[in-house]
Amino acid sequence: MMGVLSIIKIMGKAGDIMANQPLTTDNAAQMALNDLDQQLGTTADGLTQEAAAKRLETVGPNTIQHSQKQSQLLRFLKNFTSLMALLLWVSGFVAMFAGMPELGIAIWAVNIINGCFSFWQEHAAQKATDSLRKMLPTYVNVIRDGKVTQIDADDLVPGDVFQIQAGNSIPADARITEAASLQVDESALTGESLPVFKQVAYEHDDGKFALKNIVFAGTIVTSGTATATALATGMQTEFGQIAKLTQSQKQTTSPLQRELNRLTQQLSLIAIGIGVAFFILAIFFVHYPVAKSFIFALGMVVAFIPEGLLPTVTLSLAQGTTRMAKKHALLKDLNSVETLGETTVICSDKTGTLTQNQMTVNHIWLPGQEYTVSGTGYVNNGHIQLNQKDFDISQDANLARLLDIALLNNDTKLETPKDNQATTKILGTPTEAGLNILTDKAGLDKVKALQATPRIAELPFDSDRKRMTTVQQLPEQQRMLYTKGALDGVIQICDQILDRGTVRPLTATDKAAIDAANKKYAADGLRSLAFAYRTEADSVTPDPATYSIKTAEQHMTFVGLAAMSDPPRPEIYAAVEQCHRANIRIIMVTGDSALTAKSIAVKIGLTSADAKVITGDQIDSMSDAELQQAVKGEVIFARVAPEHKFRIVSMCQANGDVVASTGDGVNDAPALKKADIGIAMGVTGTDVAKDAADMILTDDNFASIVAAIEEGRTVYSNIQKFLLYILNSNVPEAIPSVLFLFTRGLVPLPLTVMQILMVDLGTDMLPALGLGAEKSEPGIMDQPPRPRNAHLLSRSIIWKAFGLYGLTASLISSLAYFFVNMTYGWPANALAASGPVYREATTMTLAAIVFCQIAAAINCRTQLSSVFKIGIFSNRHIIWGIVFEVFLLTCLMYIPLLQGLFNTAPIGGVEWVILLCIPVPLILLEETRKYFVRRHVLKSATKGA
Ligand code: ATP
Repeated sequence: MMGVLSIIKIMGKAGDIMANQPLTTDNAAQMALNDLDQQLGTTADGLTQEAAAKRLETVGPNTIQHSQKQSQLLRFLKNFTSLMALLLWVSGFVAMFAGMPELGIAIWAVNIINGCFSFWQEHAAQKATDSLRKMLPTYVNVIRDGKVTQIDADDLVPGDVFQIQAGNSIPADARITEAASLQVDESALTGESLPVFKQVAYEHDDGKFALKNIVFAGTIVTSGTATATALATGMQTEFGQIAKLTQSQKQTTSPLQRELNRLTQQLSLIAIGIGVAFFILAIFFVHYPVAKSFIFALGMVVAFIPEGLLPTVTLSLAQGTTRMAKKHALLKDLNSVETLGETTVICSDKTGTLTQNQMTVNHIWLPGQEYTVSGTGYVNNGHIQLNQKDFDISQDANLARLLDIALLNNDTKLETPKDNQATTKILGTPTEAGLNILTDKAGLDKVKALQATPRIAELPFDSDRKRMTTVQQLPEQQRMLYTKGALDGVIQICDQILDRGTVRPLTATDKAAIDAANKKYAADGLRSLAFAYRTEADSVTPDPATYSIKTAEQHMTFVGLAAMSDPPRPEIYAAVEQCHRANIRIIMVTGDSALTAKSIAVKIGLTSADAKVITGDQIDSMSDAELQQAVKGEVIFARVAPEHKFRIVSMCQANGDVVASTGDGVNDAPALKKADIGIAMGVTGTDVAKDAADMILTDDNFASIVAAIEEGRTVYSNIQKFLLYILNSNVPEAIPSVLFLFTRGLVPLPLTVMQILMVDLGTDMLPALGLGAEKSEPGIMDQPPRPRNAHLLSRSIIWKAFGLYGLTASLISSLAYFFVNMTYGWPANALAASGPVYREATTMTLAAIVFCQIAAAINCRTQLSSVFKIGIFSNRHIIWGIVFEVFLLTCLMYIPLLQGLFNTAPIGGVEWVILLCIPVPLILLEETRKYFVRRHVLKSATKGA
C-alpha cells in the first residue's frame, strides 16, 4: 500500500491552501472524481490562471532539489591537497625551519592564491553547467480556465489538469481522468522495465506503485494519451521523496579529463624524479646545504608540474559549452565537447532538422480529381482556395470526407492568444498542424464537429505502422473509424475506395493511379498522407476501450491523398557544404518515403542523384556485414523505423566512425544512447529523447549541429594551445638550475625558486586562460576530424614546447642574466651569488622569461593561420592577461616588500628596451614558420586533389 508520503495539502476554494484534511495517494485513487476535484479545489476545466499562480507561491516550483554530494567547503579544501599543494606546504615548513621565514610565508601565500584560483575556476565551470541545465525547460499542456495552454512543467501545481502523450515524462503524481491505450514506463521508480497499462478505473495490483489510475512523476509515457489531475508536485511526489533520501548527482569524468589526469600524474612523477636528482646533485656535487638544496630541488618540481591544468581545462570546456548554447546546442555534460570534435558521421532525420517542419498542404488528390491549395500559414476563418472556381465542398463527397478525417483525426489544438497582438499558436505535430490549417482554410469548425461526432477511442500514431486511427461516435448507434498515415501504411488496410461519392472495391488499377500520384508528389520533395475510413455499428465493438490495431485498422475505404511541402531550412545548404569540407559524412535517416527523401537530399546538396536509397524493409533483409558495407558509401535511409536507426548507428561505429545521431521520438532513445553523440530535438522532441541524448538542439536545426562540431574542435585545439603555452615555460625555468649544477655552483642560480613560482603560478595564469577562450581558427572546418586515438600532447606540441619555444626562451633568458652581469664587469669580475648585481641579474632573467611568454601567448593563438590575419588584438582576454603579466612583473621589481620576498631589484632603461624588443623577433620567426607550413599544407592538398 502507498504510504502517506504524498500528502495533499491543498483544498478548498481555488488557490486556498488548507492543511486540515490530508489526503494520501491511496485515498485519491479511490475517491469519486467529483469528490477529488472538490478536495483539490479544481474542476474538469482545470484551475484558473489566478488560482494556479497563487498555489505556485504557496507550494513552490515543481522541481526536484538536488542535494550536493560535496559541501562547498570540502570542494574548496580539495584544492589545497593536490600533490603540488602538499609539496608546497612541506616546502614552506622546510624554509621556516631552515631560517628562511620570508621564503616559507611566500611559498604558502603563493599556494593559497593558487588554490583559491583553482576553486574559482571550478566554481565558474560549475555555474556555467548549471545555467545550461536551467535553459532546458520541460513543457506540459495544462487545462486552465477551460483552455489548453502550454506551461513550463516547473509551474505545475496540485489541482492542475494536464494532458500527456507518448514520449512525455510525467510531471507530477496525478489521478487519470481520461486515457487511451496509456502505457507508462515506471522503471525510474520500480526498476521494472516493462511498460505498465494505466486506466481511468481504480484497480490495485501488488506492489507499491501498482495503482492503475495514478501516474507518478518521473515516469515516462511509452504509448497512448491521457488527461490527469495533479495530486502532488516537486518534492511532495513519490519521486521527490525517494530523491530526497537517496539522491546525489552523478559526477562523470570525460576521456579528456582522464587523459589530463594521467598527463598531470606522469609529468608530476617526472618532476619529482628530476627534483630528487637535482637535490642529490646539489648536496654532493655543489656541496649546497641540505635545506637550501631542498628548496632548490623544489624549484625544479614546481617548474615541471603543470599545476592548474585540470581546472583550467574544465573551465575552458564549460566556456565552450556556454558558447555552444548560444548557438542553440545544449550539451548535458562536458564530456561531449571533445567527442563532437571527433565526429565523422552525422545520422540525421530529415523532417524538421534538415527541413523547416512547416507542413503546408499544396495538393489534394482524390480518385479522378486533383486540387491545388494555394497560400501558406494560418488563415483564420479563411477559405480553401481551389483551382476550380466557385467550387462547393458539399458537392464533392470525397473532398468533404477527406477534410473531415483531417479535422477529427488530428490532435493539434489552437492556443488562442491572451491578447489580440500575438498570433494563434498551434500545439501539436507540424504534420497535423498543416492539416489543421487546411481544414481551417476550408472553414470547418472543429469544436462543432467534435460535438456532433465525439472521439470515443483512438489508436495513436507511431513510427512503426506510420498511421493513426480515431473512432468517432455518430448518432443512431453508428461509429466512424478514421485513419490517416503514410500511403504504404494505409493502403495495406484498405480494400475499398470512395470514388466520387460511391464506395467500390479497390482494384489494382486504382492502386497504380494512387501510386503514380504519390510518386509525382514525392519527386517534388512533397510528403503525402493517405486518408481512409470505415463505418461500423456500435454493436460490433460494444466497449470502445477494447479497439485494437488489428480490429480497428482493417477493411478500410481509401479516400485520397494530401501532399504537403516542407521546405529545406535556408541555412542548410551552407551547413551541408561545410560538413563536406570538414570530411564529415551526413546520412539521412528518415521515416519519409524514399522518393521524397532523395529529392530533398539532392536539392540541399547532401548527396548526388546517384546515391543509393535503402528502405527499412530492405534493412530488415540485410545482414550486419551488408549494412556495414552500405553505410560506407553515399546512402540515404528512408521509411525507416527507429529500430533501424539503432542498427545504422551501430554499423557506422563498427566501421570506426564517430557517430552523431539525431532523434525525437520515444523509440529513438536506444539509437541516441548508442551514438557517440545523441542529439535530441528541443522543440519537437519527446522528453524521452531529450533524456537519452547528450546534446539538445534548441532550434531543431541541423546547422546548429555543425556549429557545435566546430566549437568542439575549437575547444580541443584551445586546450592544446593552452598546454603548449604552459609547458614551454618549463624549459627556461629549468635551464638556469642546470647551469648552476653543471658549473658546480660557479654560475649562481640565475632564477630563484620564488621567481619560478611567480612565473608558473602568477604571470602565466591569465594569458593561459585567455588561450582557452580563443575563437575558432579560420580553416578549422577545412580539416578532417581528429583521429580518435590522437593524443592531446601531440608530437608537434612536445617539439614546440620543449624544443622550438622552450630552447629559444632559455637562450634569451640566460643571455639576459649574463648581460646584466656583463654591464657590471663580468667576466673580469666573478659572477655574484648575492647582493644588488645578483638581484638585478635574476630579475632580468625572470623578466626575459615573462617577455618570451608574451610572445608565446601570441604565437600559441593559432596553429597555422597568421595572428595578424585573425587580428593581434582580437582576443581581449590575452591582451588583458599580458597587461596583467607586465603589471605584476613591474610590482615585483619596484615594490620593496615584494623585492624582499622575490629577491628582485629594479632594472635599468636599456634592460627595459631589450625586454620590450624580445617578443618582436620571436613572433616574426614563428609567423615565418607558419607561413611555410601553410604553403606545405596547401601544396599537399592540391596534390591530393
Ligand atoms: P524524420 O524521420 O525525418 O523526422 P518523419 O517525420 O517523416 O521524418 P515519422 O515521424 O516516423 O518520420 O513519420 C513517418 C511517416 O508517418 C510520415 O512520412 C507520414 O507519412 C506519417 N505520419 C507522420 N505523422 C503522422 C501523424 N500524425 N498521423 C499519421 N501519419 C503520420
